[in-house]
Amino acid sequence: MLRLRATSLARDLPWIDCGDPWAVLVSEVMLQQTQVDRVVGPWRNFLDHYPTPRALAAAPLDEVLRAWAGLGYHRRARNLWRCAQEITERHDGDVPSDLDELRALSGVGPYTAAAVASFAFEKRVAVLDTNVGRVLARCVTNRRLTGPEATQLAHALLPRRDVARFNQAMLDLGATFCRARPRCATCPLARVCAWRRAGGEDPAPFSAGVSRAQPRFVGSRRQLRGQVLAALREGPATEATLRVAVDEGLRPDLSSVLDDLARDGLARVARGRWRLAEG
Ligand code: SF4
Repeated sequence: MLRLRATSLARDLPWIDCGDPWAVLVSEVMLQQTQVDRVVGPWRNFLDHYPTPRALAAAPLDEVLRAWAGLGYHRRARNLWRCAQEITERHDGDVPSDLDELRALSGVGPYTAAAVASFAFEKRVAVLDTNVGRVLARCVTNRRLTGPEATQLAHALLPRRDVARFNQAMLDLGATFCRARPRCATCPLARVCAWRRAGGEDPAPFSAGVSRAQPRFVGSRRQLRGQVLAALREGPATEATLRVAVDEGLRPDLSSVLDDLARDGLARVARGRWRLAEG
């Protein structure tokens, strides 16, 4: 059985043990597609603006999108804004602790729901992300796992007590040592790691829960979306003005990216001028 001493692995992250389910939920949404070190500052800033679900629910969307600056993947901001409205309407402004109720909120998938249930409410649920997926495939089984196998194994490993600390230790182990390129020489589990002991092909790629490499960012539509939204945060602009504001190599996709942003409810056009959506 895998035993982890949480304190020896823990990263020092401000949302751990903060005691505020809303702050935990915001951190988990921000961490969905952004590295930890890029989240800490924006997380503090966002909570300064919106310390409760009610505060976020009452804000206009264009203001929320400005407060999201620097994080990218702006659909998350819109989903979090909707999520805050749902929490306000359905749960009287309190983040729910029930897994199903969490999953019913906008932008909250299985991972985020489990993370909030565990870290904010000490529920006995496994938190399975790409980091934990690598640890399960390499350290515990030394084989590629299916989705149900990974889920079952993650739950079977949970200790009777201190589940949140165990989950955090697993995440930290994967993020610090058992990375895509593992740091086995300094890993505290090297002596018990099944893959390290047996050798052979790395079982982590294509194992359940382990994400593939991110597509290239530079030159992508994602980069162009970020540049357009950054320009619109400064104020309304025509498409011609936006064309000058974005990188030259990205300009051919500008019209279709503007259409995407309108479809996603992040921007709107009126009388030829684009602006951030208010809601
Ligand atoms: S020894 Fe290497 S493969 Fe095994 S858990 Fe540690 S980092 Fe991962």
